[in-house]
Amino acid sequence: MSWTHEFKDALKTREDLSEFFETDFPEIKFPLFIPKVFAAKILMAGPDSPLWKQFLPHSEEDSNLGRLDPIGDKVHAKNNQLIHRYENRVLFTPTTVCPVLCRYCFRKNELSEKDEIFDQKFKEAIAYLTVNPEINEVIFTGGDPFILSNEKLALYIQEFSEVESIKYIRFHTRTPVILPSRIDEGLLAVLTSASALFKRCMVMIHVNHVSELTEDVRDAIALLNENHIEVFSQSVLLKGVNDTTEDLYNLFSELADLKVKPYYLHHPDEARGAMHFYMGLEEGRRIFAPLHNKLPGWALPQYIIDIPGGEGKTSAFNPESFEFNGSLINRNGEKVKIN
Ligand SMILES: *Cc1c(COP(=O)(O)O)cnc(C)c1O
Ligand code: SF4
Repeated sequence: MSWTHEFKDALKTREDLSEFFETDFPEIKFPLFIPKVFAAKILMAGPDSPLWKQFLPHSEEDSNLGRLDPIGDKVHAKNNQLIHRYENRVLFTPTTVCPVLCRYCFRKNELSEKDEIFDQKFKEAIAYLTVNPEINEVIFTGGDPFILSNEKLALYIQEFSEVESIKYIRFHTRTPVILPSRIDEGLLAVLTSASALFKRCMVMIHVNHVSELTEDVRDAIALLNENHIEVFSQSVLLKGVNDTTEDLYNLFSELADLKVKPYYLHHPDEARGAMHFYMGLEEGRRIFAPLHNKLPGWALPQYIIDIPGGEGKTSAFNPESFEFNGSLINRNGEKVKIN
């Protein structure tokens, strides 16, 4: 089956889930979406598995704890599909569609099933980049950019390549893990041509647990490697999913063997509907610290936190103490109190 068929044939309702998993799920207000090939892996892994916990709904999603816009994307959104928080780089959000809906998603209050491609907005985005030449990198995110067609991606890439100041292009995606069939010849060709148009073309795969790296996923990563696309990974620390040093060690060492550079380990965001995955900084630091003994620097990601309210990312690990003193240093070097 082609990836587009797999995508259209996904489980989307509580009834679809109950039938597929032969279990009842709570009624929750957030949307559901799981392609069947991936659902079959979750079913095999079973109810206590990291896969089940990440993708199947839980009654705690209805809790009112947490923030609606945990990392302040609205504060820096430009209304033209760009989020400009750091001087030199922007997020580009051409779609709000994902190959799966992760239950812990920090954007879970924004994602929809509708694709929002507005040519006018794209023209404004290009104009914005042209008048802000300090921006040298465009990061495709979403949603998930690999849900766009190869033609659409090629078009965006071409347009960005004509903005002289853009040197780097990057894709943040969960698709290689959820729908590995998406890494098809057409997409590889698009990425290969992007590598020629920019100084660097990077794919950052979102992966949280070693059990997500099944044979078909490894094959998809190998295809990226063989086509000389630089592959990095991003993971989110999640309570009950990968919250031990061993889980993280297994994940990062496996990624390193697959020639994927572990890039970031994100501290969980305080997202409304995802607080059952949350933990404090002290706990995260205790889990992360022993990795320094088990992994070389090239296989160890940076452990980071997005400061609530749009202050940006900063290091979550503190070599001086496990305890959190209540403030973090933001991207401008200023101390910000949180909570
Ligand atoms: C995370 C993020 C980036 C990318 O940051 P890197 O540290 O370069 O990975 C860029 N823009 C925004 C708004 C972000 O939230
Ligand atoms: S793939 Fe990313 S943006 Fe999409 S639901 Fe999962 S965490 Fe959210």
